[in-house]
Amino acid sequence: MDKLLDGRLVVDTGDITRLKVDAIVNAANSSLMGGGGVDGAIHRAGGPAILDECKKIRETEYPGGLPSGEAVLTTGGNLAAHFIIHTVGPIWRGGNSGEEKILYNAYYNSLSLCRHNTIKTIAFPAISTGVYGFPKEKAAVISLNAVRDFLKKNPLPETVTFIFYSSLDRDIFLKSINNGKEYS
Ligand code: ADP
Repeated sequence: MDKLLDGRLVVDTGDITRLKVDAIVNAANSSLMGGGGVDGAIHRAGGPAILDECKKIRETEYPGGLPSGEAVLTTGGNLAAHFIIHTVGPIWRGGNSGEEKILYNAYYNSLSLCRHNTIKTIAFPAISTGVYGFPKEKAAVISLNAVRDFLKKNPLPETVTFIFYSSLDRDIFLKSINNGKEYS
């Protein structure tokens, strides 16, 4: 386990569905109806209550789907985590379609939901770096910047965990943020 940002960012490996944190973030798609990858794993582990809440959000707040870069909150169903924050990362289309800003917003807007719900601990998967194809090295720097910018201005969450599914992905993250980009 590595600690960055004065200990407020923890970098670790594992299965996000098993973490005992106040909230986990889901790399959802804009339908909010579940999918593959980490999205499927979260819905399977958390049970049907999560999909029911997502359906309500679609009927009320977001009939056209959740736009990429935005985030919404449901309960955690059967998970140890009390809440799930569903966000939609960008699909990588080569880098000239605003992908970097959208990824930044996905992290930042997820963190913004912590304040109203008194979430002290939150864990993120590596949003958009699976099926959505965002280059992992670039995503590393953007995710770190978003968390750093947010934590500088806000006491909550107290700690953020970046949870990587493989140690290779964790190593790519740690190497990428050390490649000439400043962090403290
Ligand atoms: P996206 O569509 O946003 O790219 P994916 O689910 O395809 O989302 O992948 C995002 C990241 O989540 C990938 O790095 C993948 O390895 C990782 N991942 C998949 N399952 C889990 C899990 N149970 N816990 C943590 N990370 C996971």
